[in-house]
Amino acid sequence: AREAYAAKRPKSAAIHAEARAVMPGGNTRTVLFYTPFPTAMVRGEGCRLWDADGNEYLDLLGEYSAGLFGHSERRILDAVKAALDAGINLAAVGEKESRLARLIAGRFPSVEMVRFTNSGTEANLMALAAARGFTGRVKTMVMRGGYHGGVLTFATEASPVNVPIPLAFTDYNDPEAATRDILAEGDGLAAVLVEPMLGSGGCIPASVEFLQALREATRRTGAVLIFDEVMTSRHGPAGLQGLTGVTPDMTTLGKYMAGGMSFGAFGGRADIMAVFDGHRPGALPHAGTFNNNVWSMAAGCVAMGEIFSASAAEALYERGERLREALNAACARAGVPMQFTGRGSMLCPHFRAGPVTAPYRATPAEDRLRELFFFDMLAAGIYLARRGMVALSLPVSEADCDRTVAAVEEFIAARRPLLA
Ligand code: PMP
Repeated sequence: AREAYAAKRPKSAAIHAEARAVMPGGNTRTVLFYTPFPTAMVRGEGCRLWDADGNEYLDLLGEYSAGLFGHSERRILDAVKAALDAGINLAAVGEKESRLARLIAGRFPSVEMVRFTNSGTEANLMALAAARGFTGRVKTMVMRGGYHGGVLTFATEASPVNVPIPLAFTDYNDPEAATRDILAEGDGLAAVLVEPMLGSGGCIPASVEFLQALREATRRTGAVLIFDEVMTSRHGPAGLQGLTGVTPDMTTLGKYMAGGMSFGAFGGRADIMAVFDGHRPGALPHAGTFNNNVWSMAAGCVAMGEIFSASAAEALYERGERLREALNAACARAGVPMQFTGRGSMLCPHFRAGPVTAPYRATPAEDRLRELFFFDMLAAGIYLARRGMVALSLPVSEADCDRTVAAVEEFIAARRPLLA
C-alpha cells in the first residue's frame, strides 16, 4: 500500500523533502504527520480536495471539524473579503465581536458571557485561568486519554511534557471513579475539564451518567466544571450540553465557529467570567493580538448568524448518524470486528468487537489495520484523518456518504484475512 501511495505522489514527496531541511519532521502540525510522507494539498472546493500531484479526493476530514462550511462557501468568503477591504486589523474593538458573542451566548445554555481567542488550545488555557482566578485554587482534573489542544495533551499520565499546570487524572466514562477522585481532591481542585465526547481519543461519547456524576461531584467540592466543546459544539443547536441535558459552569469552543478562520472562545457563568471584567479592580488579564481579528469576527457572524442555524445543525447531526449506522451495518453484515463510534457528524473507526466506551491501548494488529484503512481510503479517493476520523462538512451529500460506505465495504472485502 505504501509503495502504491508513494508512486502516485512524487510532488508531495518532494515538498516533504524540502520541508524536512528546515522543519523538524518536515511538519508544523503533528496530526498531519505520517510516513513515508504526508500528501500535500493545493486546492479545495466544496468538499473536494486536490493534491500537488493532481489527485482528487472527497474531503471527509473537514479540517478536523473546523471546515464545517467546506472550502468555498460564498457567504464566508464575501464576509472575509469585505472585512479585509475595510482594513487589516485596526488595534481597536469593533461591533462584530459583540454580535458574535451574542450569537454564541444565545446558543449554549452554560454560556452567559464569552471571550475570544485564536485557538481551542488557548480557549482551554484561559478557561482554566478563569477557574483558578475564581476559586483561588490551583489544580485541574482531566481525563486519561483526553485532548484539549497542543499544550494540553493527556494521552498518558506519565508524559504530560507539554502541560504547564498541575493536574489530577481520572478515567473517562467511569462515574464511580470520577466521583471518588473529585471528592478526594476536595477543595484543592479548581476545575474539571472534560470533552463530552472524546475527539482525538477516538470519537468516544461520554455517557449521560458520567457527565451527571461530574456535575454532582463538582457541585459538592466547588470545582468549576468545564466542557471542552471545541469539536462537539456542532452536535445539534446547543452542542452536546444541549443533547445530554448536563450544563457545565464553563464551555470552551473553537474550530468551525469562525467559518474556518482561526478561532477559539471560552465562556460560562457570568460570575466566573467576571474575573476578566476590566471595570472591576484586580481583573485578570486576557490579551491577545488576534483575539478579535477582523476576518474571524466577520466570518463568525455569518457562519453562526446566517448559515449554521439550529436546523442546519440538526440536519448535519442526522446525516452523520445515518452514515455511522450504514457503516456499522456494513461491518455487521461482513461479520468483522470493526466498528465506527461517534455522534452526529463526527466518527472514527475501531478495529475490535464489543462496545468501545473508553480509551484503550491498541494492539499492533489494530495499529496496522488503522494504517491500512487510511491508505486504502486514500487510494479510493477519500481523505480522512490518519487515525481514520471523519468530520462531515455541510457540502458532503447523501451520494458522498453512499460512496464512503461502498469504499469501506471494499476495504473489508480486500482486507478480510487481516480483519478476521
Ligand atoms: N479541544 C479539543 C477537544 C480539540 O479537538 C482541539 C483540536 N483538535 C482543541 C481543543 C484545540 O484546538 P486548536 O487546535 O484550535 O488549538
